[in-house]
Amino acid sequence: MTSKAKDLIAPYGGTLVNLVIEGDERAALLAQANAYPSVQISQRALHDLELLATGGFSPLDRFMGQADYQRVLTEMRLASGLLFPIPITLTIDKADLPTRAEWVTLRDARNYIIAVMRLEEVFRWDPKREARLVLGTTDPRHPLVPEMDHWHDLCISGELKVLNLPKYYDFVDIRRTPAEVRALLGQMGNVNVIAFQTRNPLHRIHEELTKRAAAQIEGSLLIHPVVGMTKPGDVDHFTRVRTYKALVENYYDKASTVLSLLPLAMRMAGPREALWHAIIRRNYGANHFVVGRDHAGPGNDSVGKPFYGPYEAQEMMTQYEAEIGVKSVQFQELVYLQDEGRYEETGKVPPDAKIANISGTQVRDDYLAKGKLLPEWFTRPETAEILLEAYPPRYKQGVCIWFTGLSGAGKSTIAQALTAMLLERGRQATVLDGDVVRTHLSKGLGFSKEDRDTNILRIGFVAGEIVRHNGTVICAAISPYRSTRNEARLMVGEEHFITVFVDTPIEVCEQRDIKGMYARARRGEIKGFTGIDDPYEDPQNPEVVIKTVECTPEEGAHQIVVYLEQRGFLQ
Ligand code: ADP
Ligand code: ADP
Repeated sequence: MTSKAKDLIAPYGGTLVNLVIEGDERAALLAQANAYPSVQISQRALHDLELLATGGFSPLDRFMGQADYQRVLTEMRLASGLLFPIPITLTIDKADLPTRAEWVTLRDARNYIIAVMRLEEVFRWDPKREARLVLGTTDPRHPLVPEMDHWHDLCISGELKVLNLPKYYDFVDIRRTPAEVRALLGQMGNVNVIAFQTRNPLHRIHEELTKRAAAQIEGSLLIHPVVGMTKPGDVDHFTRVRTYKALVENYYDKASTVLSLLPLAMRMAGPREALWHAIIRRNYGANHFVVGRDHAGPGNDSVGKPFYGPYEAQEMMTQYEAEIGVKSVQFQELVYLQDEGRYEETGKVPPDAKIANISGTQVRDDYLAKGKLLPEWFTRPETAEILLEAYPPRYKQGVCIWFTGLSGAGKSTIAQALTAMLLERGRQATVLDGDVVRTHLSKGLGFSKEDRDTNILRIGFVAGEIVRHNGTVICAAISPYRSTRNEARLMVGEEHFITVFVDTPIEVCEQRDIKGMYARARRGEIKGFTGIDDPYEDPQNPEVVIKTVECTPEEGAHQIVVYLEQRGFLQ
């Protein structure tokens, strides 16, 4: 530690909570934990538990009991009177509530032991009431509202002893506890620290905002992106963190900037959430917090109105910042002045100035979808490259062309023609042909309904992996059952799944009988032959229908090529 190290603001409520048990006590508790009744907790509760354990939610040291919970809902205060705007609860199904247990073991989705909890309180809660009071809405367009309907009907609370924090394997070098962040910030030697919260890639506008804020307070900057749960549909955290790392590496002053990841599960609660974010950042050592436009806002409600006003979060901060000990640094929306080549707050834009802006929708549709790099005035080239790589244009995304139809309908033949046509255009493709798959991937499977389904789901699984890696896969199996085809569709992802119905009447297939199978089936030598004595269910809304009695195999394949072009899968 250098001599310039300074003391940071004390954690909220005075001391940093630490619920993590180590050493002999942990070993003893682990042994007991296996004997206690288990409670499996959700991903959201796991994130909450992690922040409770490391002190991110200090002074809160447990999932809320009845007294804290009720007062937080109506007054944004814990029973002690301290401001705390967001309820932190652990819910359980009535049927799963252990009877007569003093302690329970909290486990994650994989049943790993996370913590033991003394069962001190059990109480009912009302999702509609909580939504109304905390989110200010019960509109199902709010991302938390439909989720809350799936939380369980009882809340449980009590003393916690955390035995295993969630284990991460990504970006471990910048996942830090409040104590670790405090130590780093303390060493930087600035008493003032400003934290910046984000759930999006950082563009020039955000860089400008954070640098201005740090200069204004003459202190250190904590870039503190949320990597727990954000708004569904956000850019995934792997991509985001790659952009943050590149930016901090190349464009920030390393002597006064800390990049650290926050495993928070956001509620998208707007003004209340802003206050909560500030309290959390105080626990990480910040005494200032950036609040811009529409902080933690979830967008528009069912009638197209924003859930929260653009500056409501700032108003909330102004009202309470003295009390929570975290001063807000507030910005109006920044805009780019084209002629001057700089950013400015909307209120300070000179009259007649030319303003440039690219909306989130434009980023997706006008740039990424077209394989176009975002311009340098909008985002750093490193960020532009990473986003383009993570969101390739349609023609570089994966696609599954799924043929279905009777035996001898023409699936393999058309698949072969299609493969050559795609290769000619520079698109590699893998063919998963039903007959071929049955010689290795599905060797040993027969033709009972169960075996046929297993075969299709295996093909669907492999197809899904290929598509996930942006590959092209052509599946050609009879796939007679609608529901099983649908399952495969879901495994691959509907956006990337194209059903091609090779529609050939059974009489024609039987007349072709290239493998002599229909004749054998008619003689009774093969049992359960599709179309003869086994069902075939037509697809209801296939993307492409090929009537092979009216066209050649080349024409059939060409029909698919045209469809792929229309959808943007081929350039
Ligand atoms: P999978 O890849 O199917 O998940 P795992 O290797 O993860 O398989 O094991 C599945 C579960 O079985 C895990 O919870 C693991 O701890 C448990 N298990 C039980 N016995 C063994 C064993 N001998 N080797 C590996 N895992 C075992
Ligand atoms: P599947 O894979 O559906 O069982 P195949 O492609 O193996 O069917 O066999 C279809 C047979 O029908 C081939 O012999 C093919 O030459 C013939 N055929 C005739 N017209 C067409 C057409 N328009 N499209 C596809 N195949 C056709």
